[in-house]
Amino acid sequence: MLDWSKVKKIDAHIHILPDCVHEMNPDSDPEESWTYAKIDDYIKNMDLFHIEKAIIMPLNDPYLLSTNFTISAVHKNLFDMKRRYPHRFYAFADIDPRNSSAISVESLCVAISEYGLDGIKIHPNNTGIPLDSEYNDVIFSFAQSQKIPVTLYSYPNTPNDPSAAWRIHHILEKYPDLILIIAHMGGFQWEDLVSLPVFVDMSAILPDYSRKFSIANTNTLLRQFGSDRLIFATDYPDNRVLSPSEIYDSYFHLLNRMDFTPEEVQKIAYDNIHKILENSKKQG
Ligand SMILES: [Zn+2]
Repeated sequence: MLDWSKVKKIDAHIHILPDCVHEMNPDSDPEESWTYAKIDDYIKNMDLFHIEKAIIMPLNDPYLLSTNFTISAVHKNLFDMKRRYPHRFYAFADIDPRNSSAISVESLCVAISEYGLDGIKIHPNNTGIPLDSEYNDVIFSFAQSQKIPVTLYSYPNTPNDPSAAWRIHHILEKYPDLILIIAHMGGFQWEDLVSLPVFVDMSAILPDYSRKFSIANTNTLLRQFGSDRLIFATDYPDNRVLSPSEIYDSYFHLLNRMDFTPEEVQKIAYDNIHKILENSKKQG
């Protein structure tokens, strides 16, 4: 039987906080999931579970990724984490919603051209700026013209949630050539995304789906997107239903019970995201 724990993988969505942020919060609760977001600890998971590389996602909240709370410090910290373990990490660039969108694009330019960051993360529920709001127009326009992949948080709780699936339709009407990765597969609005030309990352949502729908039905749901668009990702160490130490075992337990062929697993676990990242580098 194919064992996902042994397959070579890229985890396309994880969180690590810089050491300086951990040092500033020495009294943080050891059980709290962010306490697990340490680069030296995470490397052990990578080696244990055959995770060759991982993408560090920012949170559109400079207070979590820097100690002086500026976008340039966040990007420098992401760059430093990539450099600390060469060839193990990618990192997506961040947005600070306190800045104008013009300044956000300038910061993204620096993050990508000078710090070699690999994509852009937009988290509408942390910023309070809906995905399809005017603020993001100049960012999408920049990403489309430079062929930079953009990961959009989408785990909506209400029909008009800032990360609602219909907003992603709006974005693609305006920017049809954007390379979009939808984090959390659009949550429970996933059905509205199936017809769109987007990739979906299964971070955080996979255990949620399997609890709600059963493993077999989750398998059918994933198959609607198909192995060319699915991306393995966990959101480690942040998960709504699992503690950090349960996340990888739970993902492998669920995926091992699905019917993906070895060729499909290779695409979902590694090739799809690898191609997106390498193509965008060639463009740059
Ligand atoms: Zn996340």
